Amino acid sequence: MDGTEVTLAGWAHEVRDLGGICFLVLRDREGLAQVTLVAKKVDRDLLEKVRHLSRESVLLVRGRVKQEAKAPRGYEIIPSQIEVLNVAASPLPMDPTGKVGADLDTRLDSRFIDLRRAPVLAVFRIEGEVLRSFREFFGENGFLEVCTPKVVATATEGGTALFPITYFEREAFLNQSPQLYKQMLMSAGLDRVFEIGPIFRAEEHDTRRHLNEAISIDVEVSFADEADVMALLEEAVAKAYRDVAERCEKDLVALGIDLTVPKTPFKRVTYTEALKIANDGRAVEIEWGDDLDTEAEKAVGSAIGEHYFMTEWPTAIKPYYTLPFEDRPEISRGFDLMHPSMELASGAQRVHDPDLLAEKIRRQGLDPDGFEFYLKAFRFGMPPHAGWGLGLGRVVLTMLGLENIRDAVLFPRDRRRLVP
Ligand code: ATP
Ligand code: MN
Repeated sequence: MDGTEVTLAGWAHEVRDLGGICFLVLRDREGLAQVTLVAKKVDRDLLEKVRHLSRESVLLVRGRVKQEAKAPRGYEIIPSQIEVLNVAASPLPMDPTGKVGADLDTRLDSRFIDLRRAPVLAVFRIEGEVLRSFREFFGENGFLEVCTPKVVATATEGGTALFPITYFEREAFLNQSPQLYKQMLMSAGLDRVFEIGPIFRAEEHDTRRHLNEAISIDVEVSFADEADVMALLEEAVAKAYRDVAERCEKDLVALGIDLTVPKTPFKRVTYTEALKIANDGRAVEIEWGDDLDTEAEKAVGSAIGEHYFMTEWPTAIKPYYTLPFEDRPEISRGFDLMHPSMELASGAQRVHDPDLLAEKIRRQGLDPDGFEFYLKAFRFGMPPHAGWGLGLGRVVLTMLGLENIRDAVLFPRDRRRLVP
């Protein structure tokens, strides 16, 4: 290492001019490197160039590596050549060293600079590892990766949450979920598919866990029931934690996180049991059949204290494609994967009987005619199947204990934010 000639490219993180000696700290995706210029030894023009560099200018540095215990990563570079590839204007829209704090809006407005800070970059390096881990899990388990359309003619679950768009002479929508398409692929005989892609929800929510565009990790499996796909889901999530713990050590340090890998199998808690926990000591009780609100989710979450599945949901509050139990049709094979602080995924064994499905679409107040392309796939040989949809942003948000889902999305889309 000592004495090796190297070429580094990166950003001028900091210039510290002490007169006789000048330190240029160069930053790239892996971290910081110290470039040391001793006034007496170095070329005058080179020294002047560095002294007048604006912060965050892009540089190419050639030089020799020298061991130096006091420098970051234990070495410094003695430069022979420094090329300014592009000058950064000043003042900067925000401080990339993190010494001057900035609120979330300012950070998102200048996201390209915000990402130059180690703990911010760490979140997205971990997110990249989570994606890699999921794809590896799916590969190991015989899944086929598919891409379904995002521009669609029909609402998946009713019309309120849709973004309409102009599609030539017609109205179309941005898809709120790949649900209908991944189910049709079960009729096609694809057996086990997954998709990682955007979902669009036109809800006017303003919470720390909702955005109007989110990335969903979707799975559908033929000849499977809800228990089979819950087992897949918990193993995939635990593996993602394990892989991040093993492969993202430096990023976890940058974030100050000591990651605990959740143990599988996760607890199974029925909706009815959860309701009992949530209603304990609550002023206005939630009635059986109503959805759990945020307060109830929190109460159950803190009672359980770790990831868990909520199972046996009332049929009436789950989407039409959720299969009811044959002997107790008021209860369904739908489930949610919960982190103590919020929902991470929803899934179910699906209805595969076309007549029951059409009836359930009607009962949900939707017009089966609009679903003809979907129902058709059920009339000509649809196997029993099950699946789930998991929100990527929420996995990263809960794994890293971040404040807000906006911290886990590069360029979040919410009601107020469409740029950048
Ligand atoms: P919630 O009740 O929390 O609003 P949901 O039940 O409407 O979520 P689903 O339709 O079940 O959401 O979608 C499956 C998963 O996709 C959710 O569990 C969540 O992780 C993610 N997801 C759904 N909507 C959003 C959103 N608006 N922003 C971020 N993630 C979302
Ligand atoms: Mn859900």
